[in-house]
Amino acid sequence: MPRTLLATLIGCCIALPSYAALDERIKAAADQAQAPSMALLEQLVNIDSGSGYAPGIGQVSALVKAELEKLGASVQEVPNSAPDPSKHLVATFKGTGKARILLLAHMDTVFKEGTAKERPFRVEGNRAYGPGVADDKGGIVIALAALKIMKALDLKDYGQITLLLDASEETGSQAATALIASTAKQHDVALNLEPGRPGDGLVIWRKGSANAVVEVKGKASHAGVAPELGRNAATEVAHQVLQLGKLGDEGKRPR
Ligand SMILES: [Zn+2]
Repeated sequence: MPRTLLATLIGCCIALPSYAALDERIKAAADQAQAPSMALLEQLVNIDSGSGYAPGIGQVSALVKAELEKLGASVQEVPNSAPDPSKHLVATFKGTGKARILLLAHMDTVFKEGTAKERPFRVEGNRAYGPGVADDKGGIVIALAALKIMKALDLKDYGQITLLLDASEETGSQAATALIASTAKQHDVALNLEPGRPGDGLVIWRKGSANAVVEVKGKASHAGVAPELGRNAATEVAHQVLQLGKLGDEGKRPR
């Protein structure tokens, strides 16, 4: 379990009367949460929930919803856009403090139906394997573990914690974009529980993507009599495409 993330998650939610004493209690609670969290991770990984596979996403959602309700959340299912009948999940916890914290994770994976049977959850050494184990079933389990620990330690010094579970992330979250944007606006900080980086560090920015339309107009001229007066649009497009490749960070240019 990435303890750095867990500690950050808990640490950003609460005012600490005594860091050292609380750290010890959090560590003890995290140790206790490890076995049930691994059992839940196994259950979730062994359910096929590829994007668009509503029965699997529904099973994941039902399991997680039950866990969240046990922790006292009010949970809402938000329909995906047609024709995908999968539903997103939004769970809300109310605290006694001020900070409004959004946690984001997703229930869908990139794996087709049958993958979980072909290569089910397994642990080798200190590493767990299986379809979607890190991306993002592990993220869901981390969120639940943190919330469980906070409840066990009666840590409520936050205004609101919202856990938003997207059902369509692996296909671009198009069906959840409006939901994520409107929910995010109601929070002070968002933590996205995607797989971490080596060392369990927090990633504070990520690359994005965008679409652009470049219009190029040429200038007609007689190819034989006055070619120097013409401008070739295709040549200019080729030039622009080559320039686009230089917009990436040094060393990370698209090839
Ligand atoms: Zn992901």
